[in-house]
Amino acid sequence: MASPEVSIVVIEDDHNISDLVAMYLRRDGFRVVQAGDAERGLAAIGRESPRLVIVDLGLPGELDGLDVCRRLAADTPPVPVLILSARDDEVDRILGLELGADDYVTKPFSARELVARVHAILRRTGTSVGSVAPAVVGFGTVVVDTGRREVRRDDEVVPLATREFDLLAFLMDNQGLALSRQQLLDGVWGEGWYGDERTVDVHVRQLRKKLGPDLPLATVWGVGYRLG
Ligand code: CA
Repeated sequence: MASPEVSIVVIEDDHNISDLVAMYLRRDGFRVVQAGDAERGLAAIGRESPRLVIVDLGLPGELDGLDVCRRLAADTPPVPVLILSARDDEVDRILGLELGADDYVTKPFSARELVARVHAILRRTGTSVGSVAPAVVGFGTVVVDTGRREVRRDDEVVPLATREFDLLAFLMDNQGLALSRQQLLDGVWGEGWYGDERTVDVHVRQLRKKLGPDLPLATVWGVGYRLG
């Protein structure tokens, strides 16, 4: 869960999308402020000092999503931005303009995917979700750099799938807590995820395989989770 003071401003004129995104973020413990156009969005950003802004590119009124990106990129420090886009070519335009957006999703998107991206951006930009973990953590021969999303074992980079890294980071963020499979699914896969709980076991097994068969997840992080 995010702490209640972590607020996110969602600027989206489609009420259905805005409400869905807000609902998922609130369930994850974020404070969410919704705005239906850029002017109201910028006013909300001024009031809230959010840790993240989610903005739709196509907005009614004088200013569109790109204008919001430009304004935010000029702020110091810049506010992380996640863009909602209706078309891939719009995204090309954003990247071409180098507006400094941190990530984007193309509509239609799943709320679970969006929330996962939000958590990833907040981790990268230093707003840890849950207890604050140091950026670089070592255990035995393994070193995890959460800022760069890089894991080394015996000084060799270990390639991890996005989900494997997110799981590792989540376990580290929740050091000292006993977590159920469902909590891991909610935290890493998102609450909208439906499927077999044993997916968690498969990923933990992969982590152990890649990071060392003796990797004592439960002992190292004090996590009360063991493979069944
Ligand atoms: Ca729109």
